[in-house]
Amino acid sequence: MNTASRVLVTGGAGFIGSAYVRTLLGPSGPEGTQVTVLDKLTYAGNPANLDPVRDHPGFAFVRGDVCDPELVGKLVSEHDQIVHFAAESHVDRSIAGAGAFVRTNVVGTQTLLDAAVRHRVTTFVQVSTDEVYGSIDTGAWTEDEPLRPNSPYAATKASADLLALAHHRTHGLDVRVTRCSNNYGHHQFPEKVVPLFVTRLLDGGRVPLYGDGSHVRDWLHVDDHVRAVELVRTRGRAGEVYNIGGGTELSNRELTGALLDACGADWSRVDHVEDRKGHDRRYAVDWTKIRDELGYRPRTGFAEGLADTVAWYRDNRSWWEPLLSRAAL
Ligand code: NAD
Repeated sequence: MNTASRVLVTGGAGFIGSAYVRTLLGPSGPEGTQVTVLDKLTYAGNPANLDPVRDHPGFAFVRGDVCDPELVGKLVSEHDQIVHFAAESHVDRSIAGAGAFVRTNVVGTQTLLDAAVRHRVTTFVQVSTDEVYGSIDTGAWTEDEPLRPNSPYAATKASADLLALAHHRTHGLDVRVTRCSNNYGHHQFPEKVVPLFVTRLLDGGRVPLYGDGSHVRDWLHVDDHVRAVELVRTRGRAGEVYNIGGGTELSNRELTGALLDACGADWSRVDHVEDRKGHDRRYAVDWTKIRDELGYRPRTGFAEGLADTVAWYRDNRSWWEPLLSRAAL
């Protein structure tokens, strides 16, 4: 199997995209791979996330917008594969206003797909989310479940998935879609619940718990997500969707308890706030397909992963303190 290729990674300065690029160009990454990151550097993008690979001979960075057809066309023509992470990714922001989500997540994906067809890229990995399925009370979604997204964020990701799969059926483009559960880990922008709570607790502040705290999510370490995306890029099949899960299912109340414990704080630091509008009760994906077909299994236990994450935020204040003003909605 030849995995040496020229890979265009969109959104590679963000939380998950940068973890992917650091892995791809790290000591255990595939030999000879050339990686170009295309990232607009929105409030969520941070060039410092790529410092460990900046001097790697196989690395290049281009600041730009996935909605810019000229730039995208030029870059796509110079690469064999695309791994598409770039997105507006914060549900609360999509509730405050969905325009930027439609633009980047839908139009941006379409711009990349157009170029991918035109320049005959060999593989297009669309990195998506379990949120496209909507909410499920019991059991877990398989990949053939109809999409019933509820938040504007999830609706734009679902649109992008459908566009990507349509380009497989219509144009024969080798599109592979991944749908992962909630990620946590280091380098996550401090607006998402885990780093928001950890940074506030480390600063002696208070944290907000939505509604009754009974909403349930599956929490997966970012390194496990990254390994799964890489398995899909190198060994997945064209036109297929792969759910990625197998983390730890927790209610928001249980997650809050774990974060308080990990930061040495107690429940007196928690404010109970009004629930998020349209808040999905529970997400759960069935990840049998990627396990049986590609041999994926999560490796990082939640307790260990959370302890590492808290330690990283404790030791890397210089990374997150300057971001706090950008994190406010
Ligand atoms: P993030 O917000 O940390 O990073 C997004 C990156 O995209 C940033 O670097 C940003 O600058 C860049 N970007 C945004 N708009 C752009 C544009 N128009 N052109 C070019 N670059 C642009 O997001 P993340 O948490 O790393 O998520 C990455 C992907 O994974 C997203 O597609 C998201 O939907 C998906 N995902 C995330 C999770 C999660 O728990 N965070 C779970 C499943 C799937």
